[in-house]
Amino acid sequence: MNYDVVIIGAGPGGIFSAYELTRLNPDMRIAVFEAGHTLSKRHCPIDGEKVKSCIGCKSCSIMNGFGGAGAFSDGKYNITNDFGGTLYEYIGKKRALDLMHYVDEINMRYGGEGTKLYTTAGTRFKTVCIQNDLHLLDASVRHLGTDINYIVLENLYNDLKDKVDFYFDTPVISVESDDERYRVIVKDETYTCDECIISVGRSGSKWMETVCRDLQIPTKSNRVDIGVRVELPATVFAHLTDELYESKIVYRTEKYGDKVRTFCMNPKGAVVSENTNGIITVNGHSYEDPEKQTENTNFALLVSKQFSEPFKDSNGYGESIARLSNMLGGGVIVQRFGDLIRGRRSTPGRMDDAFITPTLSATPGDLSLVLPKRILDGIIEMIYALDKVAPGTANDDTLLYGVEVKFYNMEVEVDERLECRHKGLYIIGDGSGITHSLSHASASGVHVARCIAGE
Ligand SMILES: Cc1cc2nc3c(=O)[nH]c(=O)nc-3n(C[C@H](O)[C@H](O)[C@H](O)COP(=O)(O)OP(=O)(O)OC[C@H]3O[C@@H](n4cnc5c(N)ncnc54)[C@H](O)[C@@H]3O)c2cc1C
Repeated sequence: MNYDVVIIGAGPGGIFSAYELTRLNPDMRIAVFEAGHTLSKRHCPIDGEKVKSCIGCKSCSIMNGFGGAGAFSDGKYNITNDFGGTLYEYIGKKRALDLMHYVDEINMRYGGEGTKLYTTAGTRFKTVCIQNDLHLLDASVRHLGTDINYIVLENLYNDLKDKVDFYFDTPVISVESDDERYRVIVKDETYTCDECIISVGRSGSKWMETVCRDLQIPTKSNRVDIGVRVELPATVFAHLTDELYESKIVYRTEKYGDKVRTFCMNPKGAVVSENTNGIITVNGHSYEDPEKQTENTNFALLVSKQFSEPFKDSNGYGESIARLSNMLGGGVIVQRFGDLIRGRRSTPGRMDDAFITPTLSATPGDLSLVLPKRILDGIIEMIYALDKVAPGTANDDTLLYGVEVKFYNMEVEVDERLECRHKGLYIIGDGSGITHSLSHASASGVHVARCIAGE
């Protein structure tokens, strides 16, 4: 089977490259190979009753399938060069921002219309933060919410399915190059194409490493972010979230000078567990629909670590810490802030006594047995710093879920077209190590499509 372009992975990167290619060149023969299911077949079995924690499905419906890791996410499209990836280093700041706005327009056309675009421009919280040694990063954020994000994906799929050949539940085993064309090998078949876009996200990180090794594509190690997910009553952060929805706040610790930052804020949201290559970590999302909202807000507090010599494997370090928490807790561990400070584990009894109802069923435990001291000290310092701008953050009943780990793929060597050393082979989205967000991954997809179409 021959195609002009094969796209590997149907996350935001793959979807937006398919969208833009079909728009610019409707006659092009395009195939998308996706390891996971169609959108409608994606269901995580965790229901909080019969299935309480991750059972390690063959294809994780949270991470894999049409829509990629973002399908059941909060659908927060951050339009900024300040975080979410370093796409601008390859294509320039203006083009990167223009592409993110373009993606936003498409999302609005495909079902997102009416959702709110929040912005930090002109907010008084910038001053309030700086007065308390906290730094609020600039961004506009479109909050689609998990429900509208799903509708947008559904509409995009309905539009694309007659223009593109989708192969679901079809993990690509390898990609081979014969100077002129690429051979894309799946279980029983080989497909050929002139150009190949690889957009396999974080869940495809191990596979991506083998592709880079086989095709001798240079890579360099990336950082890993390690921390906890904080959950507290929504009222504590309401003054910030009502105006900004998501605030990315950075703090430099007094003790070590490390930077700790807030990440992925979900007002009235839910904490969820996530399975990356068999390791259970924690994440969060929220809904636009008021009926599905909770009384709690959650966000991550993360510290970045990058290693160079002699140990280079930042992800391996993060994985080991996550494995330790899985070993002690059988999955995600939850601890009350008050218990952590008093040096004792949270128990089911202490959790029952708390004035907050956790949104994720996790094992009460002791995060100080899991997280390295330096990271935990930084997180505790940041909680006290945040308490000054959002009093109540350092309450005894504030819940800390661990561990949250943000793995980044190793950074693949590509040029300004996001093309690697092999002509016609493009590596985009989170799988390239260049992007770590919906907006940057989607923008990278549009960018390569335009490069391929000669725009
Ligand atoms: C729970 C959760 C919440 C999140 N919330 C947000 C948020 O609110 N805002 C934000 O900006 N970001 C969020 N993120 C991150 C965001 O989802 C990712 O940055 C984004 O999805 C990256 O897009 P991508 O296309 O590069 O990769 P992915 O979305 O990971 O898609 C890659 C796809 O490739 C497929 N694949 C992998 N290997 C193969 C193979 N060998 N063959 C075929 N297919 C393969 C996978 O199955 C997957 O579907 C969240 C992530 C999670 C998990």
